[in-house]
Amino acid sequence: MPLVQSEAIILQTRKFSETSKIISAFTRDRGRISVMIKGGRKGTKKFPGGVETLNRVELQYYYKPGRDLQNFKSADLVASYLGLRNDLKRTYTGLSLAETTLRCTLPEDVHAELFQVLTSALGALDQVETAPWTIRWHCLLQLCRLLGFGMNLQNCRSCGSKGPMRGFDLELGSFVCSHCHVDKPTMLHLGGEFWGVLRFLDTCPVEISPRISVNPSTGRRIEVLFLQYFKYHVSGLQTLESWKLLPSLYWGVEPKE
Ligand SMILES: [Zn+2]
Repeated sequence: MPLVQSEAIILQTRKFSETSKIISAFTRDRGRISVMIKGGRKGTKKFPGGVETLNRVELQYYYKPGRDLQNFKSADLVASYLGLRNDLKRTYTGLSLAETTLRCTLPEDVHAELFQVLTSALGALDQVETAPWTIRWHCLLQLCRLLGFGMNLQNCRSCGSKGPMRGFDLELGSFVCSHCHVDKPTMLHLGGEFWGVLRFLDTCPVEISPRISVNPSTGRRIEVLFLQYFKYHVSGLQTLESWKLLPSLYWGVEPKE
């Protein structure tokens, strides 16, 4: 069985039987894979260091084509993002990006650029202490582009005008201007301020993202936009568990009108 080596981000780890565990990882060279680590929990033998969620590792495993689960060989830690782990908001932001990658990619679908986007986002979350939601949105914009349903943030997709914008059409993946806006189920009522925030994030380097200031009510609505957008475009996606907690974690409990 050939031995495969690739850098990888650990997306999830779970117990399997009393003595084993399964990790899901996004590798740079092989896309998303699942690997079984056998016998690590027996007696005094411990699982190898490094195989924790969100760690970046140099992973080696034995590859057998057509099999859902590969066999673990070793993992050497490349980065554990301690800055991110010391902060609840940044930790949950990282976990939300891991879950998104887990749920929205196909097994063994190679996306080297997506690996790069993910590691850049985790690196930025590790280094930058403020406004992790902007880093999250920056990463989500890149993810949906790389997965084939990128948003058009240049102009109104219907007529090409530069605004003023009045809505976001989930189906078109674009803001639409007040002339082209119609009431329909896929239309969210979002105006120019939302367009401005997302346009900024779509073109800036990830570590610059926190420079854009967003008030809590705008932030909550951008979260709703992303959730609906991913659910609309990723087939079979019902929910993203780790996303649910984020608005209250970021901005506190929503005030009652
Ligand atoms: Zn228009």
